[in-house]
Amino acid sequence: MQTKIKRRKFGDTGLYVSEVALGAMNLRMLDTVEQAFEMVNYALDQGINLIDTARAYNGVNGEGVMVESEDIVSRVLASRTDIDEPIVIVTKGHGYTPETFDEDLDISLNKLRIRKTGKGLFIGSVEVKLVYFYHGIMRERWETMKSSGAIDQGKRRQAAGDLTYLGFSAHYGDGDVIKEAIDTGAFQVTELPYNLYNRVLSEDGEIDLFRYAAEHGMGIVNMKAFNGTANLATSRILGDMVSITYSDMLRFCLGNPYVSAIDAGARWPRELEQDINDSLLPPLTKEERAALAAEADKVSGLFSNICRECTHCMEKFQCPRGIYIPSVLGAYARVNIAEAVGRDTEPYRKAYAALEGPLADACVACGQCRPWCEYHLDIPALMTEAKEKLG
Ligand code: SF4
Ligand code: SF4
Repeated sequence: MQTKIKRRKFGDTGLYVSEVALGAMNLRMLDTVEQAFEMVNYALDQGINLIDTARAYNGVNGEGVMVESEDIVSRVLASRTDIDEPIVIVTKGHGYTPETFDEDLDISLNKLRIRKTGKGLFIGSVEVKLVYFYHGIMRERWETMKSSGAIDQGKRRQAAGDLTYLGFSAHYGDGDVIKEAIDTGAFQVTELPYNLYNRVLSEDGEIDLFRYAAEHGMGIVNMKAFNGTANLATSRILGDMVSITYSDMLRFCLGNPYVSAIDAGARWPRELEQDINDSLLPPLTKEERAALAAEADKVSGLFSNICRECTHCMEKFQCPRGIYIPSVLGAYARVNIAEAVGRDTEPYRKAYAALEGPLADACVACGQCRPWCEYHLDIPALMTEAKEKLG
């Protein structure tokens, strides 16, 4: 397919992937299923050949229809007869034991309608390279994976041709686990967060894990290039404190030489189009990168210990008190940021009070949500703070 999107080497896989990937997490957040189809088709039309989905990316859309990201991706690919290259599909499961690994992988293979043939894996007539991730590894999950034999099970399924590459995703605060995982040599691909405001897993870390993974021949998908879902709302509060744009953020990530592809989380075709156009701009110079980093560092402290509204905690977990944690803690974060930068907090307090569903005062600090925050936030403690501050 003729495409203007630039391609990058995908580690030692022998593949080249589009610098801008399609993040399929947001397909569940649109108004209609047709919009979800349109988004995937648009990405393919632009020459995007890496789609980042997960077993857990399910949700009820604006019309009240349950949308499963893997299902949408599969339906679109099955409908296409014009794709003349393999499409890389990254999907992820929460199976950290051999049994649950098999269970989750088999559901994904089924939802994606992947056919195993003598020539490889296919969805309809489209060849796919399936990258299967252990989703969001962190210390406890990693120990379970090692002791239960889940990694060997992943390798067995890979050797059997049920998946093409094995990988893992991880988040900030899990650097030691990420390094251990890379050191096993079991994984060919990883997905890690990195952006202008938080470079701790790359150049600002004790070890540059992006470089380390690349040196181990791994393909690297960069997530959270825009600092998570909450960035738009928080940047409105930050207003004129920084002049950093989305384009700057994307180009900053593209300037990391170890990144293979960026899942920037575009929700609509127009956003994806903007990301693609930004990716075609000249690379930032070293001086421009340094200036942007210095500007971001003026406010990056405001992003510590706040909810990013990434919604990951709700993918496999429900609060027994019915609290929708991302909305409650996201609204609370905006009150705190407004306060920290000396803005009027009243609009943000009102926005918090106007949220639907139970608020922080419903939290009984049971702690059940704690293992599910990808950012290791102490959710019960934040709920207690929010209750004390906002009632
Ligand atoms: S600690 Fe609070 S928010 Fe977390 S699960 Fe328990 S009641 Fe829900
Ligand atoms: S509590 Fe953690 S996992 Fe849940 S939305 Fe906020 S940052 Fe994401």
